[in-house]
Amino acid sequence: MINIYSSFRSITDPKSAKKFVEDVKWLDVDNVLLLTKNTKSKVMYYSDIAPYDENAASLYGEVTDYLKSEGIGIHAWLCLFHESLENPSPVVKNNPDIVLVNKNFKSNFDEPTWSDVAPKYSTLWICPSAEIYIDYLKDIIREIATNFKIDGIHFDYVRYPEAVEGRYYCYCKRCLKSFKEKYGFSFPTREVIEIRYFVSVLTDNVTNAVKELSYTSKKFGKQVSAYVFTDYVTAIECCYQDWPYFSRYLDFLIPTLYEVSPEYAGVLVERARAVASKKCKIMPAIYANTVVRRSQKGGLRWSQKRDAEYIISLVKAIYDNGGDGVSLFLYDTLFNPNRPGGFSREKLIKLKKGLNDIES
Ligand SMILES: [Zn+2]
Repeated sequence: MINIYSSFRSITDPKSAKKFVEDVKWLDVDNVLLLTKNTKSKVMYYSDIAPYDENAASLYGEVTDYLKSEGIGIHAWLCLFHESLENPSPVVKNNPDIVLVNKNFKSNFDEPTWSDVAPKYSTLWICPSAEIYIDYLKDIIREIATNFKIDGIHFDYVRYPEAVEGRYYCYCKRCLKSFKEKYGFSFPTREVIEIRYFVSVLTDNVTNAVKELSYTSKKFGKQVSAYVFTDYVTAIECCYQDWPYFSRYLDFLIPTLYEVSPEYAGVLVERARAVASKKCKIMPAIYANTVVRRSQKGGLRWSQKRDAEYIISLVKAIYDNGGDGVSLFLYDTLFNPNRPGGFSREKLIKLKKGLNDIES
């Protein structure tokens, strides 16, 4: 089973929309994970409730119709809790207390997520405990499910941000209330046991969001999937994403295997298979570009190879260790050699052949 992510960066007019569908058909892709809500508050279709990207919206119906007519599955890729700092959607403007609060009790409006890493990374993040925003996401799911021929809903950023700044989220009034109600504790505290239990409050918030959004998607007969951190220990520890548990609400799970060596990918896939719900398929994401970003030379976990052979050996490792498919990230670089990190045509043809051999 081959899935591919795509944004609308390469789908800019009717001609490129047609090329997109022909390209994914040529690669024998089974499902497209099509960007539908981005990290900047915008959806990619004409919405009555959410701000939308005008150009993408003018093509969304056409692209999904065309994919459907070719028998290719479509999963609407939603960046759940990310919002634009400069231009948040009306639901955020009207309810400013739904954003994260850091451990210094500063709202995300005052100290945005990642703002002390570099101002350009500054982003607004909604606390998954905010029912108002969950309802907003449910309305978005309802709009997509009723207006377009899609097969599923795909959750991205289904977590809290990584605590890279050394200040941990989230201390909003809902999170603190839940801490008090469930455990009887309150902040500030330096008591190690109290701090430890707070992790459960945050993972519960994320898990509840998955449960509710999954329920809404299923009500419309849609499959549900999520993009998650590579290994579950890191996922829970670093961003309160308890996917071993919430996989029970999903049809498939996409843990990232970016830059991972085929040997180590086997270990990660085997572990994912062992802890995820048995009815949830595992279809890891693979970098389909030439970018070397975090991998360290000599580290057993990593590979710095970025050719077709690397991807093919990763795919084999995934299948050999209990995986059900692969998810290529992403169309924009795989089919556009001129983009930064773009894959050459020659590599792409080699990759197609290798994938066909494995899948047949
Ligand atoms: Zn919170």
